[in-house]
This record gives sequence, C-alpha cells and structure tokens, in this order.
Amino acid sequence: MISQPAYIGRFAPSPTGPLHFGSLVAALASYLDARYHKGKWLVRIEDIDPPREQPGADQLIIQSLERLGLYWDESILYQSSRLEAYRALLSELRQMDLLFPCTCSRKEVGVVYRGKCRQKHFRSLDMPYSIRLKLNNPSSIEFHDRFQGKVRQNLKDAVGDFVIRRKDGLFAYQLAVVADDEYQGITHIVRGADLIDSTFRQIYLQQIVRYRTPGYGHIPIITDLSGNKLSKQSYAPELDLSSPQSCLISAMRALGQNPPNDLIHLAVSDLLSWGVEFWKPQQIGQTSIPANSMMD
Ligand code: GLU
Ligand code: ZN
Repeated sequence: MISQPAYIGRFAPSPTGPLHFGSLVAALASYLDARYHKGKWLVRIEDIDPPREQPGADQLIIQSLERLGLYWDESILYQSSRLEAYRALLSELRQMDLLFPCTCSRKEVGVVYRGKCRQKHFRSLDMPYSIRLKLNNPSSIEFHDRFQGKVRQNLKDAVGDFVIRRKDGLFAYQLAVVADDEYQGITHIVRGADLIDSTFRQIYLQQIVRYRTPGYGHIPIITDLSGNKLSKQSYAPELDLSSPQSCLISAMRALGQNPPNDLIHLAVSDLLSWGVEFWKPQQIGQTSIPANSMMD
C-alpha cells in the first residue's frame, strides 16, 4: 500500500482575473498550514465557468504564486480536464433518483428553492433546464470549523434543493469541488469565509456519495475600505509584486500573525520558512458569517 501523507491541502483559484490581495491571503493560509503540518499543498485551477473567466488568468495566477515563493506539490489540476468525472458523479446521483430538472427562472426561485419542479421528468424537456439535487430529511449539516468554531445550517431552510448542473449546461461549483477534493485526497481545506455557506452543501453531497469529509477552516474575508469583499468581480487591484516580501508580510498580518518588519530583507523562501515555523492558526480572526449558520 502506498502511504498517503496525513495532510493534503490545496489552493483552488478560479481564473477570473489575476491574484489579488484577498486570494493571496487564502493561498498563503492554506500553504502555511500545509507546510506547518508537513503536508502536501496542491494547486487546482477551477476553470469550469468560461463566461466568468479571463483568458490567461491561470498563467498570471501561477506566475504570481511563483514570484511569492509559494511552490506547490504535484502537477496543477485543471477542472476543465475533469468533465468526464463530473458527468460520472452526476449519473451516479441520477441512478440514486436524487436529481430533477428545473425550468424555473432565477427570479422565480428567489433565495430558497421550494421544490416547484420536483415532480418533473428529464424526458420530454425541450427547453433549457438546470439539474437540482433533491434534499432528503433531515438536511441539517453541522461541522466544526477550525477558525470559526461550530457552525450549522439546515439546507432546506437556507437553500433548498440546489443546482448541481446549471441551465447553461455547465457543472456547478459544488459538484466539481466535491468530486475533486475526493479525487485529490484533500484532507484539509483552508479558504475564505465567503465559502462557508457552500461548505454545508459540499458536506451534504459528500455524505450522499460516501466520500470522506475533509477538515475545514475558513479565514476572514478581506474587505475593501467600504467593507465590500475584495474580489476579481469587484475589480480588486492587482497585487503589486514589485516587493513580494511586502505582500507576504501584509498577508501574514491579515492572518493575525506577527512577522517582524525586518523580514522584508529576507529572500521569499526564508520569509515563508519563518511563516511556517511561527504559524499560529489560533491567531486567525473570526469573522461575520451568515446568521443562518450560527450556532444558537
Ligand atoms: N474556486 C473558488 C474561488 O476562487 C474557490 C474554491 C474553493 O476553495 O473551494 O472562489
Ligand atoms: Zn424549478
């Protein structure tokens, strides 16, 4: 038997634009945590949503990671090379009779899907439809987040039967991410708190198909001065990589770490070694998370 390391982490950017400060913080947190635990750190490019992508953004992200000294293990996995596996997972769910086609518009659905199309059949549909996963009872998911503590969500109340293949034919993020975290043997996920809300759906899906559930830790979202999340969609400024050291030091501070100023004179590899040696995940701040997922 091949022995697997006890820790396999990953950074999984969508190539919708260059690396910005928010995504650097997520990359660094998952990197430091993996190295601290003597684990592997993988990079996966989540390129399954062409309408949102920017040509060449994957290369820009990869170059920035290299510039920052954030070297990954193994080769980079592109989700666009995994469509066959997503199709297989979809048909597995269909065989379990858990899928139904939905022709509702976004406006009709609102925030929580109320099951309007649950009785519909795939045959005889000549209009575009999305595919939703039928939630069973009970649909309450709880997990212990390493940085946020115990969180819980009742999927029925918070989201309802959710989309796993979109109306435009693309696979939903929830399906692809679950397939790939399993495929790559990911044991620890460290990512932005904006994804906590998705984690409940991902764990639900893992349980249905009997995949392992990795450990999760969600780091605070980096916001701009007006409190909005930095994202490629909101045109967060591209990182100024003229001093990768200063980017790394700022990112460490955003994670509650206390790198001394004079680290700026080190090579990035030495700076990162400092980060690994003195990694204190317990200093990562809490953040506001959706009220419907707070423990009472
Ligand atoms: N690709 C997602 C994003 O860039 C992150 C996926 C994940 O970490 O699970 O927001
Ligand atoms: Zn519907």
